[in-house]
Amino acid sequence: MPRKIDHIVIHCSATPNGHPLFRGLPGQPGYMAAVDVIDEMHRTRKPPFKRNLDWRRRQNSRLGAIGYHYLVYTTGAVATGRHLDEVGAHAVGHNANSVGICLIGTDRYSPEQWVALVELVVTLRRKYPAARVCGHRDLSPDKNGDGRITSIDWLKTCPGFDVSRWLSQGMTPDALNILNGGREG
Ligand SMILES: [Zn+2]
Repeated sequence: MPRKIDHIVIHCSATPNGHPLFRGLPGQPGYMAAVDVIDEMHRTRKPPFKRNLDWRRRQNSRLGAIGYHYLVYTTGAVATGRHLDEVGAHAVGHNANSVGICLIGTDRYSPEQWVALVELVVTLRRKYPAARVCGHRDLSPDKNGDGRITSIDWLKTCPGFDVSRWLSQGMTPDALNILNGGREG
């Protein structure tokens, strides 16, 4: 059954800006794409995230943990994680009715990432017209006091840019959030 979606939440991976987060070389043993690296991060965190087997059978069965629905790579490629109708694990207190998008980086993203993010958000908005697009930091933390907010600082900054400002500027990022933008030309 399709989920009711009221938030489209943008995150960052909190990994070095511009670093693709791949490990090894494609086709070689030990190679991991960014989606596998994030999956490993979510599998080894405490407490770990865990996907249900039925959902794994439906989409990306090798990913046993990943909490996001989409990743936006530094190249601008978009990888899928959880199924859109599968509850994510990315925004405590808001997972049931949200979609989680994670930009690889911390607060500066490549021009290709920005283009891909626009495309993805436009597509999701068409599918979920009532949903509010926001950054992780714009959501109030879980109020049930279960102690699951592991890093307040991370929550305060993710995704490293002002999503409402980006929306109000017609989805144009500020220069300081563009990798190799501004000074470095
Ligand atoms: Zn986040």
